Amino acid sequence: MTSPANVPSTLPRNHPSAWITALRPPRASVDLFKPHGFFLEQERNHAGRIVSSGVMLLTNKECPWRCLMCDLWKHTTTQSVPSGAIARQIEFALEQFGSRPEQLKLYNSGSFFDPAAIPVSDYAQIARTISFAEHIIVESHPRLVEEKAVRFRNLLSGSLEVAMGLETIHPRVLPRLNKKFDLGHFARAAEFLRTRQISVRAFVLVKPPFMDEAEGLEWAVKSAAFAFSCGATVVSLIPTRVGNGAMERLVETGEFAPPRLATLEEALEQALNLRAGRVFADLWNLEQFSRCAVCLPAREQRLRAINLSQKSLPAIECPACGAP
Ligand code: SF4
Ligand SMILES: [Zn+2]
Repeated sequence: MTSPANVPSTLPRNHPSAWITALRPPRASVDLFKPHGFFLEQERNHAGRIVSSGVMLLTNKECPWRCLMCDLWKHTTTQSVPSGAIARQIEFALEQFGSRPEQLKLYNSGSFFDPAAIPVSDYAQIARTISFAEHIIVESHPRLVEEKAVRFRNLLSGSLEVAMGLETIHPRVLPRLNKKFDLGHFARAAEFLRTRQISVRAFVLVKPPFMDEAEGLEWAVKSAAFAFSCGATVVSLIPTRVGNGAMERLVETGEFAPPRLATLEEALEQALNLRAGRVFADLWNLEQFSRCAVCLPAREQRLRAINLSQKSLPAIECPACGAP
């Protein structure tokens, strides 16, 4: 995709949100009563057991922030959804699953505790709809973690975990991502949750913009270590992707290139070696990061096996590309 020419060529220091928004491709059309995505996966839980995990990508009002690398707004609305819509979306996905997964991820392309996204008056109905689930994971920006999290936890039958996008602790890159939080916000939000028996998961980017391959690896591992030091029990490593217009522009200016698959593999190994908690590599659309169709299936299978076992496995040797 070629990005619009009438927008300054690179991310301005002032008013980055306007630049990020101006480069956006069109929003997708969504159904207020259906999640825009849902699937079943397996995940290793805190006790080391492999559990069935239902992931629901809930349709709701767009997040108030404008992070540089975010494309989650594509499947959001510009207005709050009607009361009751979120529970109906969950019911819809459960019907399609045809089963009651032990763990549920209710990801809403923003913050579950943003009242414009998930009406607080819907919490009780949502909790009743998922009363079978033993563990529920929602996501939130660190600055929206407050008493609403406790209110929701108190309504649940199962335990609650909150996933927060730490992204990176690089002191110059984190501010440029336009996340509008600092490490103190993240640490305080994590402590708030932990002291109220709510687990913490951190999303960490592998090679965000403004880093080369080696820095992308180094700071992913440092960021995972920081998340664990704040009490996170899970770190999810997300290879940074294009797809929102702004990231394509940064590719054109040479300020971003997606990480290589080898960098994600190495980040997973090194973060696991911290031995501080579970580490998962995000495998969605993994082919974007591969340069070799011959070894991709085996490398994806290896990463999936490491995610489930939390143990290192021998690297894949490829006769076509020479990996590793
Ligand atoms: S806080 Fe999350 S959902 Fe909101 S813009 Fe940033 S990355 Fe996207
Ligand atoms: Zn290969």
